[in-house]
Amino acid sequence: MKLARFRWHGRDRIGVLTGDEAAVLEIEGAAAPGPDMLSLIQHVAEGGRLPTPEGREIPLTEVDLQAPIVRPRRNLWCVGRNYHAHAKELSDSVFKASGPSAEQWPIVFTKVPECVVGPFDDVQLAGDVTSCVDYEAELALIIGRGGKNIRGADAMSHVFGYTIVNDVTARDVQMRHQQWDMGKSFDTFCPMGPWIVTADAFDGTQAQLRCWVNNELRQEAHTKDLIFDVPTLIETISRGITLIPGDVIATGTPAGVGMGFAPPRYLRPGDVVRIAIEGLGEIRNRFVA
Ligand code: MG
Repeated sequence: MKLARFRWHGRDRIGVLTGDEAAVLEIEGAAAPGPDMLSLIQHVAEGGRLPTPEGREIPLTEVDLQAPIVRPRRNLWCVGRNYHAHAKELSDSVFKASGPSAEQWPIVFTKVPECVVGPFDDVQLAGDVTSCVDYEAELALIIGRGGKNIRGADAMSHVFGYTIVNDVTARDVQMRHQQWDMGKSFDTFCPMGPWIVTADAFDGTQAQLRCWVNNELRQEAHTKDLIFDVPTLIETISRGITLIPGDVIATGTPAGVGMGFAPPRYLRPGDVVRIAIEGLGEIRNRFVA
C-alpha cells in the first residue's frame, strides 16, 4: 500500500495511491484514524488495521503532494558512512577522524523535524551562511511499533514502511563542528516522499537507489551494499533509547555526492536533484537562492 499526504482544494488529507499511481483515494470518515499520517501509523502500531479507503478518487495531477510525515514528532535519525564507496570518497574530509570503532558502530546523527519539506518543494541554499550545499540520496524507514533494545532478528517487524529522503548537507558547517546536526538541519534540508510504501509491499534490504543532478546520474547503489543493514540500524539506535511510532531512520547515502568530486561540485541556484528508488517512486527538488 502506498500512503500519501496531500493538499487538495485547500485542505490537507491522507490517502492511498491507486495501483497505477494515477490517482489517490482519500481516507476519510470512519476509515480515518486521525487527521494525519502519524495518527495512522500510531493506530497500526497499536494493532489497528490499515484503513480501507472510502473516499473519492482524486487524480494525482490535481493534488499537491506533501512529505508523508510533514512534521515528525522528533528529530529524524540519520546514519553517516554506510556504504563502503562513500566512506572512501570522503575519507580525507568528513570521515578523517573515523577510528577502528567506525567499522563496528554506525555514525548516528539527527536532523530537526522542521527541516522536512515535500517531495517536489524547493530547497533553500542559504547562501548567507554556506556555499557548500550537497545532496545525499537515501532510503528512509518509518518505525511502526516502537520499542527499546530491539533485537536485529525482530527489527523488521517494527518497520511500518519506507520513503525517500534527500539528506541535504552544508558541508562547510558539517566539517567545522564536532557534531553534524547543524549542517544537516537548515530549513528545507530534508525533502521527503513522494509517499510511504508499507513494509508488506516493499523490501528495504533489496532497494535500488539512483540520484541525478540536472539529469546527470551521480549516485547509484543497492541497499544490499549497506555496511550496517536495516535490522542492525534498528537494533543499534534502539539500544537504551525507546523508538516511537513514526520515527524516521535515514539509512545513509552511497558514493557520488558533490563533495566526493575534485574539485567538489556543490549545488547552485537552479539545480534540480532527482532521487528515485525502484518500487518507492521519486522526489525532485529545485535548489534556489
Ligand atoms: Mg546522509
